[in-house]
Amino acid sequence: MQGEVKSGLKNLALSVKYAYDIAYPGDYVLVGTEELYLKKGDAIISGDYQIVDKIKEETGVEVTLFYYDARIVTTLMDEQGERQIGSGAHALIIKNVLEAESEHFFSSVMIQGVEYFAYYTPLFNSDGSIVGMIGVAKTVENVEKVVYKAILPILIFAAISMILTAFISIRFTDRLVKIIKKIKEFLGQIAVGNLNGQLNEKVLDRQDELGEMGRFTIHLQKSLRELIEYDALTGIFNRRSGEMKLKLLMEKAEKNADTFCVVLGDIDFFKKFNDVYGHEFGDEVLRQVSQLLKKTIGKKGFVARWGGEEFLIVMDRIQLITCEQEIWELLERIRELEVSYGGESMHVTMTFGIHEGNGSQSVHEVLKAADEKLYEGKLNGRNRVER
Ligand code: GH3
Ligand code: MG
Ligand code: MG
Repeated sequence: MQGEVKSGLKNLALSVKYAYDIAYPGDYVLVGTEELYLKKGDAIISGDYQIVDKIKEETGVEVTLFYYDARIVTTLMDEQGERQIGSGAHALIIKNVLEAESEHFFSSVMIQGVEYFAYYTPLFNSDGSIVGMIGVAKTVENVEKVVYKAILPILIFAAISMILTAFISIRFTDRLVKIIKKIKEFLGQIAVGNLNGQLNEKVLDRQDELGEMGRFTIHLQKSLRELIEYDALTGIFNRRSGEMKLKLLMEKAEKNADTFCVVLGDIDFFKKFNDVYGHEFGDEVLRQVSQLLKKTIGKKGFVARWGGEEFLIVMDRIQLITCEQEIWELLERIRELEVSYGGESMHVTMTFGIHEGNGSQSVHEVLKAADEKLYEGKLNGRNRVER
């Protein structure tokens, strides 16, 4: 039992590390003067609990990211329901993981008087220096639930393989091994970062443990994809997937000699909106504007949150003049959108810059051209479409 818990937690710790590397490529660095923030690559990850909370929600396992021995991002809460940010790791963990620069499983770690199974894996920057660790911990009391209910498919895979080897006849095993191999290959793809792989339908149709294991792995793939591709606040594509989708669309457009349009839109005077009506109301505006953009563009292209209050719209197989018309209509709908929050209702406007793309330009060039148009639109009085 402990061996299974260990390998399950180990796989989970590595998945967390992997999720951070995919979502925020780059090194871990501490920035700031008075208040310190942990950055990974270009993103500030202090205060961003999206990844760890999602993993806790899926698995029931507590997840902590340490900068050296200090908790920076954690799902662990104290009795008042506050996250245990800044608290330090136990001396034994510092010695066995940070100083030894090695991963380590602990069968009994006391955190706030509760006994946990815990697994720690060190984090290194690209120059090979150690910068912290990822720790995953499951209460000893709840561990059975992890074994039977959690989405640790690899753990289930190991357990089922053992049962199979022990109890099932060789001929029968042969067929099952093929299925297990399919699941293993699918997991292998997830492990190397391919989240678009497909699992053979025959596996999913099975009504036994193997079918269930297959469905778990699909669930794991979907959860990881959601974490990596979508913006947490608005639920639309994030910048990373927006850029990737644009790249794919441009390759296809070049091959088929299609025209397409790249549009950058930015909410007008949004800083003032936040200052006057509050950040929460601002967030609600971002959510509703995002949904309106997504609904309006529909199958004609895609929409991504490009930055704070800035959105990328890409329309496929369309010419500048038609795109301009569509974006003016979209702007009209935005002007009409009434966003309500805390008993108040407000309207916002946006400025859009359009660029018609062609096969000879790079992703960077089309984005830059749309951004220049957006800037012109702002200079020309905002609340308009510039092409
Ligand atoms: P302009 O018309 O020139 O675009 O002016 P602006 O005030 O919209 O532009 P500026 O770049 O000065 O300010 C953008 C503001 O967007 C500042 C920031 O507070 C706000 N913002 C960025 N991200 C978020 C977010 O996630 N939620 C909320 N509520 N506000 C955000
Ligand atoms: Mg703005
Ligand atoms: Mg802006």
